[in-house]
Amino acid sequence: MSRPRRFDTNLIVIGAGSAGLISSLIAATVRARVTLIERGAMGGDCLNTGCVPSKTLIRSAKVAHTLRDAGRFGIGAVEPDVDFEAVMARVHAAIAQIAPNDSVERYTSLGVDCVQGEARLVDPWTVAVGERSITARNIILASGATPFVPPIPGIDEVPVLTSENLWSLTERPARLLVMGGGPIGCELAQAFCRLGSTVTLIDMEDRLLPREDPEVSTLLASVLVSEGVQVLTGHRAEEFVSESGRHRLRVSTATGSTELEFDQVLVAVGRRAHTASLGLDALGIETDPDGTVRVDRYLRTSVPNIYACGDLTGPYQFTHMASHQAWYAAVNALFGRLWRFKVNYAVVPWVTFTDPEVARVGLSQAEAEDRGIAYEVTRHELAEVDRAVTDGSEHGFIKVLTVPGKDRVLGATIVGAEAGELITEYVAALTHGYGLKAIMGTIHSYPTLAELNKFVAGDWRRKHAPGRVLDWVSRYHALWR
Ligand SMILES: Cc1cc2nc3c(=O)[nH]c(=O)nc-3n(C[C@H](O)[C@H](O)[C@H](O)COP(=O)(O)OP(=O)(O)OC[C@H]3O[C@@H](n4cnc5c(N)ncnc54)[C@H](O)[C@@H]3O)c2cc1C
Repeated sequence: MSRPRRFDTNLIVIGAGSAGLISSLIAATVRARVTLIERGAMGGDCLNTGCVPSKTLIRSAKVAHTLRDAGRFGIGAVEPDVDFEAVMARVHAAIAQIAPNDSVERYTSLGVDCVQGEARLVDPWTVAVGERSITARNIILASGATPFVPPIPGIDEVPVLTSENLWSLTERPARLLVMGGGPIGCELAQAFCRLGSTVTLIDMEDRLLPREDPEVSTLLASVLVSEGVQVLTGHRAEEFVSESGRHRLRVSTATGSTELEFDQVLVAVGRRAHTASLGLDALGIETDPDGTVRVDRYLRTSVPNIYACGDLTGPYQFTHMASHQAWYAAVNALFGRLWRFKVNYAVVPWVTFTDPEVARVGLSQAEAEDRGIAYEVTRHELAEVDRAVTDGSEHGFIKVLTVPGKDRVLGATIVGAEAGELITEYVAALTHGYGLKAIMGTIHSYPTLAELNKFVAGDWRRKHAPGRVLDWVSRYHALWR
């Protein structure tokens, strides 16, 4: 294969999800000619099957929960009359409302050449879409990930839902089995339970959200159980059995095995990089054992003019990381001959949108222990924040890890209402290098949940009060009495 003397375009981007959209937007903004190829719906997972539909469903579920829970607020509790079809119609309305932001029309108007169809690499500079071949000096792969459906015996005989087909349900599953206690499994298990399904959540790990500290898992599990979700951790799926339209899953535990009956199963055990249609092998583009495309710190694949970003390469599968990486991929692809930037993963926040939310940035306590990193931990309960009391949302806490003897933040975990919003103050602290003293010195409006961030800083300050100075000040006051 020989490199063309001239190219049709500066950059080809494959996949119009968060990673591909932002890559092509950056390229167009710096006046490069860019072709964006998408085989399905513009917006990818986030808009069509991920963040947007799930958060919309979660909101409807929260309304149902509030009605059921209204007695706590002095208002007669009612069992909500959930119109599942209308809930799903709202999900699709939200997608439709946001879709213009990611549309062919918008991107074309921004200067991106949008092509509909499945792209396949022909050589390091040529991409085929149907009958058409397009050449570019650089290519960005942003084809995302798809739900992993494990090859459990009998799985082909049962109605399997994943985040891809879930959104076309028109009837609420009566008994929903959710496989996977990670963020997606927990969010959807709680949402479907609140919407009236009988939900069983299983995971072979011994706790939910295993990336978080154990106390987070315990709190979340207790909330889910209190709302009626049957949480079965330490349960391994062994075999699906389907007889006369009735479905069961045989699961094994440390002590034996049992069977769970269900109507539909939602598989949320992880998402695998989508490489199948790209033709990577022919070009020798390397992948890692987990199936993600291997890249260097500049997001270059093993073919140096081909870059990858987003869920296709990991290591984090979040929309905000896809966009973060997209900047590096686009800038390095277009300007790499002049200067290059190493992708920066120093401060990566994430949120699990259960109720209470779980938000994290930087190190967890368990990670600090595992890596032998010295830390101090300061914790404050949400129940001690006035606004949490007035709102009736006292469940939760903040836990901040700092460098011993210093106010520099190593990591923060927040569990509670609006944790996803509150964590941003700590994301900023880690990003810009300011510590707990600066957070304490910042005015937080009263009464807000954000006071939690300041209170924990105050707790830290009290622990590190300058004792000798205070002794001296005390003597000073005594003199003036
Ligand atoms: C249920 C669920 C909830 C989620 N919630 C959140 C959340 O709250 N917050 C968060 O940050 N993240 C969330 N995520 C993760 C988030 O959706 C992804 O991290 C993000 O969408 C990744 O973007 P991407 O551009 O890498 O991939 P994608 O969005 O998957 O885009 C890839 C695109 O490439 C296209 N494509 C693939 N192959 C080809 C080809 N050969 N030719 C042309 N086009 C191709 C696909 O059709 C797709 O449109 C959630 C995911 C799920 C499933």
